[in-house]
Amino acid sequence: MSLFSQYLLQRQFCISLEYLTTQKPHLVPKTFAGFPVCMTLADRVQSDTDIAPLEALHDYPQSIEKILHYSGKGRDISDFQTFLKDAQQHGVENLLLLSGDKLKQHQDGANDPSLRSRYLESVNQVMAAKDFGGFYLGVAFNPFKYAEAEKDAQYFKLNKKIQAGADYVITQLGFDMDVLSSYQRYMQQYYPRVPVLACVMPLTFARARFMAKQKVAGIVLSADVLNFLQQEQQTDAIQAEQNVYARCALQILMCQQLGYAGVHLSACHKAEEQEKLQKAILQFAKLTYEQCLAKWKMLWRSSVEVNFQPTGANNHKAPIEQVLKYKSMHVMHELFFSSKLAKGAGSYIFSAKLWQKPKADAALLQTEFISKHGIVGCESCGQCRLGETLYICPETCPKGLANGPCGGSNLDRCEFEDRECIHSVKARLAKAVGQEKMLKQELIPTVAIETRHSSSWKNWFVPPTSSPTEQ
Ligand code: SF4
Repeated sequence: MSLFSQYLLQRQFCISLEYLTTQKPHLVPKTFAGFPVCMTLADRVQSDTDIAPLEALHDYPQSIEKILHYSGKGRDISDFQTFLKDAQQHGVENLLLLSGDKLKQHQDGANDPSLRSRYLESVNQVMAAKDFGGFYLGVAFNPFKYAEAEKDAQYFKLNKKIQAGADYVITQLGFDMDVLSSYQRYMQQYYPRVPVLACVMPLTFARARFMAKQKVAGIVLSADVLNFLQQEQQTDAIQAEQNVYARCALQILMCQQLGYAGVHLSACHKAEEQEKLQKAILQFAKLTYEQCLAKWKMLWRSSVEVNFQPTGANNHKAPIEQVLKYKSMHVMHELFFSSKLAKGAGSYIFSAKLWQKPKADAALLQTEFISKHGIVGCESCGQCRLGETLYICPETCPKGLANGPCGGSNLDRCEFEDRECIHSVKARLAKAVGQEKMLKQELIPTVAIETRHSSSWKNWFVPPTSSPTEQ
């Protein structure tokens, strides 16, 4: 049992200090303002070719408890299986599994579908790592969603992550204490045994401006927050810096009192930054939650209190055409794929030797593509999941996620900014047709590269023997 898991299981509030593999190694303290420390090595944050956490591991003493991140971006299930073996050999015990944000060199596959970038979903990583055994598994969760559908979609997927076997959760970086407070209440009500760490950082104006400019996926910084930090910085830079560390310290202490198991501390890897933050934590350590909150509010206030919520959420219902499309697709699916008659006839037809001939196989694939692409956006994945995704094709998500959203949507808009997040659309539809349970509980297996560009009709009725899809 890892030390980190013991901290969480024994409810010993801990600090997980984040380090990037692209930075030169730093000294990691054993404790932080009296709290036990772990370190995390983040994966593919600055570029798609950052040094892998497994390689950077040895730059730090063995005695330091470590959590390794694994990002699914640009990776397939076979890469993850290899990673698990390597991680085990290196004695790694704690993992944080993420689908990952957009690859810097993302390929949409418009000219050549085989070049399309793939993202291995966290849910599938958890399933595979659980089967492999021996790791303490964390997942990320973004509670900072301010439109109803994207919020629902996040919570549906959280349920799947936990059902798949996640041992602990780390939130997205965020500063809205109302959200952190209600998320902790939710976890205590529904998953009291799953510990949660909140991600925090000393938020300077420079960092906030950088994140807003770079549109860092999933991080919500309202115009109010940016304006406030700018004004504070311009008025008195020394006082502004003190306030930055005071706010971060108060947030950490409030998280502790709300019942969080610890915090994941980002952008605080330098000794002088750590010293300033520790000093501030110790200064406020004896305050009650209410006193911390009052001070926090005071430090986020000029003439009026800062509003952390972005504006512009549009909480509409699923349009009637979409509901009708779902209903007709559902009838067809039952009739042609799920009924006993269809299954018998389908397996008889597709068992024929004819389909082993390359020309017949290619014609079948083309027919399937033509009949489905225009209606649902099919891309011949070879493992049709429409029945489990309310007939909204996962391939229409730029990352191809089937189990639920990444954390990167912004008021329902996709991280790629060219469409509405398909998982918001799905969550809205699920409410309209009473299928929320499916989005919460159906663990959809990943599609291995070998399965792509084959006919899912044939694979549905005559599953390929020892198919890679059956993992
Ligand atoms: S559609 Fe949603 S889940 Fe897919 S990349 Fe966009 S924001 Fe992420």
